[in-house]
Amino acid sequence: MDIKIACPKCDWEPDGRPYWMCDHCFTTFDTFITTAICPNCKKQFKDTQCISCHEYSPHLDWYRNLDAWLRAQLEKILERTAVSVED
Ligand SMILES: [Zn+2]
Ligand SMILES: [Zn+2]
Repeated sequence: MDIKIACPKCDWEPDGRPYWMCDHCFTTFDTFITTAICPNCKKQFKDTQCISCHEYSPHLDWYRNLDAWLRAQLEKILERTAVSVED
């Protein structure tokens, strides 16, 4: 399935560059490859900032045409990660 990713507020589409910086370890990464998880320290980011309009939106809201099954899988991944980050 072809998932379209775009800013919920201005429709900017990420181009695969590592625009996002982790505020914990300062690693830069493409947040849409890692489902909003820092590849270095595994910190999870609930909201994703748009590079174009600078507004924050919940990470999952960026995924257009997500079907219910895939959305549930992503939410499960994010929940699990949020718990494991605590220790
Ligand atoms: Zn935007
Ligand atoms: Zn990090």
